[in-house]
Amino acid sequence: MKPKTSALLSHHNSITHLFTTRMGGISKSPFMSNNLAFHVGDDRDDVITNHQNLTKQMNYNLANLVHMQQIHSDKIIIVDPKTHNFDNPPECDALITNQKNIPLMVMTADCTPVLMYDPVKQIIAVAHAGRAGAMKGIVPKTIQKMSEEFGSEIKNILVVLGPSIGACCYEVGEKIAEEVTQSGYGLATVDENGRYSLDVNAIIHQQLKALEVPPEQIDDLRICNACHNETYFSYRADKQKTGRIAGILMLK
Ligand SMILES: [Zn+2]
Repeated sequence: MKPKTSALLSHHNSITHLFTTRMGGISKSPFMSNNLAFHVGDDRDDVITNHQNLTKQMNYNLANLVHMQQIHSDKIIIVDPKTHNFDNPPECDALITNQKNIPLMVMTADCTPVLMYDPVKQIIAVAHAGRAGAMKGIVPKTIQKMSEEFGSEIKNILVVLGPSIGACCYEVGEKIAEEVTQSGYGLATVDENGRYSLDVNAIIHQQLKALEVPPEQIDDLRICNACHNETYFSYRADKQKTGRIAGILMLK
């Protein structure tokens, strides 16, 4: 199973990107097999081997990779290579950089991995957007920060939503459904046979529309990782004990 890429990003020569799958690694069950996260209980040496294999595919130095200690927040960090590296991931849910050969990584197992690119100013960003992060506006806030800190114009920014849990597989209780609706994201909940389901990507799309990101610059891969659990880790489908896939973006 080849990793997934976005046609929107693939024809830009100054970046490289991909979304990994759970296949092709060496981790054992329940992290079988290409788990990239250290905090889930997997064997550390196996996780490092999986990371090393990815460096060969994407051609980067593992020490330079910046991943995150993700906390379902709206905290955004501008990467400082002197402080942030593979052994020192910052605590945040989005990363931005204008520096070459610094791969940015977001890890997920149901939440939405989001890759952002400004091809005019050559700025990249990644974000981790589950229900909490999406509700806090991690994606539009990251785009605004790209604009404030690096002069990115919103009309130039490309946004890709990677494999994540779809409304098809994300049932929520009435309380969460109400909370989402009351926050103005009424489109995100559907009532089907008395059950509530949540479409996190619909929240993100609504925010991108409000920000006036051109729709043709948004690529939602529309892969539900729970429906495709044989290919992707899913926190829900795997009953919580599972690995993490990754979205990776780097300026070359
Ligand atoms: Zn599904």
